[in-house]
Amino acid sequence: MASSHHAAGGARVDRGVVAGTFSLDGETYDVDNNIWVVGDDSEVVVIDAPHDVEAILGVVGDRRVKAIVCTHAHDDHVRVAPELRKRTSAPILLHPDDRPLWELTHGTGEHGELWDVDLSDGQEIAVGGTTLTVLHTPGHAPGAVCLHAPELGVVFTGDTLFNGGPGATGRSYSDRPTIEASIKARLFALPGDTVVHTGHGDDTTIAAEMTNLT
Ligand SMILES: [Zn+2]
Repeated sequence: MASSHHAAGGARVDRGVVAGTFSLDGETYDVDNNIWVVGDDSEVVVIDAPHDVEAILGVVGDRRVKAIVCTHAHDDHVRVAPELRKRTSAPILLHPDDRPLWELTHGTGEHGELWDVDLSDGQEIAVGGTTLTVLHTPGHAPGAVCLHAPELGVVFTGDTLFNGGPGATGRSYSDRPTIEASIKARLFALPGDTVVHTGHGDDTTIAAEMTNLT
């Protein structure tokens, strides 16, 4: 299930895939989510926490989890984030504009569970000798972010950009003109050969997706 490829500096990207459901606006869909783990042999960042904490920990192995970074707060990306936090003692990072979506899954007030640290545009997250830069890319969700790792030549796009085009914008809290503006301004500004690691499905590249969205 898990696979990896190595890059310069000791940092690498490991991937898993886990099946579950996504619910919003009263409908539920079956979905396969990618699990992305970035780091070296000693410490990692986990990007999104879908469905099954054991599957995520299987990709992490015996390495220390430094942070759980959520690309956005749809339930298929954050459902087991609090459980993963409990197991690893790592903080959960989320852009605060996704609070309404987070609360749909994790509740509000004294019965709710919150994330720990707000993500902000331009923030840098160091892990395993490399750096992830936060790009705020609203549209699929108001607090959607992408994580660019320039030294690895990759960007993690969550559900903002897929192999084949932009993420879905047909449901609550989504907006098509906003996602297109985010992709064009922030993602298409990256080098064309940047590999795009998506929240669901196969990789693509920035150059390939520039031909899918004109
Ligand atoms: Zn989503």
